[in-house]
This record gives sequence, C-alpha cells and structure tokens, in this order.
Amino acid sequence: MSNGLTMDTLVSLCKRRGFVFQSSEIYGGLSSAWDYGPLGVELKKNIQEFWWKEMTRVQENIVGLDAAIMMHPRVWEASGHVENFTDPLVDCKGCKQRFREDKLPAENVASKKCPECGGELTESRKFNLMFKTFMGPVEEGGNLVYLRPETAQGIYVNFKNVTQTSRVKFPFGIAQVGKAFRNEITTKNFIFRTCEFEQLEMQYFISPDEDDKWFEYWKKERWDYYKKLGIRQDKLRFHQHGPGELAHYAKVAYDIEYEFPMGWQELEGIHNRTDYDLSRHTEFSGKDLSYLDETTNKRFIPYIIETSAGLTRTVLAVLSDAYEEQKVEEGDTRVVMHFHPAIAPVKLGVFPLVKKDGLAEIAQNIEKDLREDFTTFYDHGGAIGRRYRRQDEAGTPYCITIDFQTKEDNTVTLRYRDSMEQVRVKIAEIPDFIKKADKEYRRE
Ligand code: ATP
Repeated sequence: MSNGLTMDTLVSLCKRRGFVFQSSEIYGGLSSAWDYGPLGVELKKNIQEFWWKEMTRVQENIVGLDAAIMMHPRVWEASGHVENFTDPLVDCKGCKQRFREDKLPAENVASKKCPECGGELTESRKFNLMFKTFMGPVEEGGNLVYLRPETAQGIYVNFKNVTQTSRVKFPFGIAQVGKAFRNEITTKNFIFRTCEFEQLEMQYFISPDEDDKWFEYWKKERWDYYKKLGIRQDKLRFHQHGPGELAHYAKVAYDIEYEFPMGWQELEGIHNRTDYDLSRHTEFSGKDLSYLDETTNKRFIPYIIETSAGLTRTVLAVLSDAYEEQKVEEGDTRVVMHFHPAIAPVKLGVFPLVKKDGLAEIAQNIEKDLREDFTTFYDHGGAIGRRYRRQDEAGTPYCITIDFQTKEDNTVTLRYRDSMEQVRVKIAEIPDFIKKADKEYRRE
C-alpha cells in the first residue's frame, strides 16, 4: 500500500474531481475503458510533454516520430507478434471467469482449481492479444489489419527514412508517443491495465559491441527521469527479468516498478532488443536496414536499447504518489495532491477575498493576464479556506488571493499548497516568482 491509499479511494477522488471517468458511464460503462476529465487530460498532457522534452529536446541525438496506428500486416509477422504475442488463458467451468494462467497463484495452476469459486479450470490456451479489424468495405482476410500493440514497430519501419532525412549520427534515438491496443484480461486495477492505452517509447540505435554500456546509460537516465517527475524514490525499484520472463526479442530486460496501491508493478520496461527487429524487418521486407558507420567504415545491423513506459500507467503512478490525507490540526484533515508543479493540471488558483468592492474584477483581470504563462483557475465561490482546500485536492501548487491591500500596493497573498505558507508578492512579479518556485520545488 502506498500512503495507506486504497484504489477505491483514488478512483472516487478521480471521479469526484474530474480526473478520470468510467467510459460510457451513462450506458452502464465499458469495463476497463476510462475517459480523462478536465483535470486528468491536463495531467496526462503535461506528463507527455515532460517526457517528450526529457527524451528529445534535452537529449543530444534523439528525434521524434508519429507513425500510424494501423500498419501493413506483414509488420506484425516480422515483429513476431502474430506468432508470439499471446497470453496463456484458462477458463473456469463453474463460474465461467477467464484468467491469465501466468498470473494465477501457483497452487491454483497445480490443482487446476478456480481461485474464485473452486471450480475446475480448463487446459490453458494461447490467445493472441492483437485487436483485428478490416480496412475497406469487405471483411475478408486480405483486408485484415491490426491495431498496433506497441508503438515501437512504427519506429523500426521508419529507421531508413529517419537516417536518410534527419542527419542523425550514431548512436541516436527515435522517440514516439501514441496509443496502443491489447486485448487483455484486465483486473480491477483502474487505469493500470486497459485494452486501449498510451505508450511513451524511445528506441536507441547503437553499435552491437556497445550494448552493455548503453543499456546501463538508459537504466540510469530513466530512473533519474522519474525522480525529476517528482515520484518518491522509495516507491521505485528495478526488477530484472529472469530467463522465463524475457520477451521473445530481448537479451536483457529490466523493469522500473512502482509501489501502486495494489503492490509493486511494472511502470516501464528497458530492453536490449539486440538486432532482432531490424534483422527481421530486413528479412521480411527485403530492404536492407543495415547501417554504415562512416567513422569506422563498418556496416552492421544496429542493436536497439528500448525504453518503453506507459503514459496512462504513469498517470496512475503520479496520482497514487501525489495523494496525501494530511492532518492539519485536531479534527481537521485535508486531502492534498502533491503533484510536481511541472505537471500539475492547474498551476495557479486566483481568488478575490470577497466578490464586492471591485475585488472580483481586479482578480479576473490578473487571471486573464496570467493565462499566457500558466494554466489558471478563477474561483470566487465560498469561504477562502474552502477554496484553498479545493485546489489542494486538485493539486494546484500555488494560489493567489486579491484583498483590500491589493488596491493600495498592488500586492497579493500567494499560498503554497504543500506548506500552506503565505507570502506577499507584487502582481507584476508573479510569473517570475512562480517560475523560480517551480525550479526550487522539493516535496515536503
Ligand atoms: P505486462 O507484463 O504488465 O503486461 P508488458 O511487459 O507486456 O506489461 P511492455 O510490452 O513492456 O509491457 O509495455 C511497455 C509499457 O507499456 C509497460 O511498462 C506499461 O507501462 C505499458 N503497458 C503495457 N500494457 C499495458 C496495458 N494493457 N495498459 C496500460 N499500460 C500498459
């Protein structure tokens, strides 16, 4: 358990505050599909932008890509997904529930008894996780296309296009954010595992004799990224894949795990995919995907180090990590979401102390001016203390209050979310003040 937080508490906060809603709720919901509400979409977008900046802009030699979700079906034969991307499934003959055999407790696998009702389990069958559909009006085999189960393949098939057009020099990376689809058995873990989700993937192309060095480099970079994102270090750990766990393409794999409310689970996978992908695409497409290193004059099929994180799963980690039910004083608790200011859905709350005497107008004008710099939220409803608490729950790191003194000296009260400390700031200095506070932010 993380901060004593249960998944039920988090789900209800997410619904109440508009982070995440059940999909198609007015029709009774679609299981394991979720919609991101006004606060959730800002949070998700901010995490995506944070990742993009960290993985492209501030990196020496990484460029971006946005490939189509639907690809030529041969891609998935070459990648090994048609053959290998399967889960072993068993059904209960009694209660008819379906389970992933590899996720069942060992005693249930051995006894072939259902963990829910004790009924008899069927033999396990391989079930391919790719969603299929048809392109064009005729539903026949020749028109079959898959919804991509990972974004990575879009990068591999564009390897030549990118090297020929963008002047990247070895070693280099290609980064991509996008939706992926897997027809999975989902458990009751909210947005942790869903059939439609988003990935943040980066593929780093290297010379085969440097794979250990680059693997270690990316392991460290990715750990530091979560630190910078504001995730508490004691909630993160590495897990190395044993021989039985390794994916069909991987030589070495480490997961970065987070301690979610239901326990330790994978947040991101870092894989040494060797030359598997580019060799397979060379073989299946008939196009040479080798690379000539002009400094050494050697030609080779690059090895790939992949960092593959779930965006929607990161949203769950960030929400879980941010949550705190804090005792302020005897009989008074507040719920506060300690988002790092860089990703908080709303950066600044703007309140007039009271609506009358022109304070509301002054506050609205200040808020309008600040919209260029920050995501703001104007609120004049209810006692000031309650307004602060509402923003604490939304994870807004700063709130300013316009009061009678504002009229005299053009200053406002700025309140910090985490410490609840209040300081006086000149209106003209608010943007710089906040930018500085963001840089200095440390979770208390
Ligand atoms: P798992 O073992 O949990 O099924 P995986 O090892 O198959 O995951 P990868 O193929 O390595 O996962 O995918 C990379 C990342 O994509 C994962 O670390 C996770 O964050 C995210 N991801 C994978 N499947 C899902 C899903 N069904 N829903 C949400 N995120 C997912």
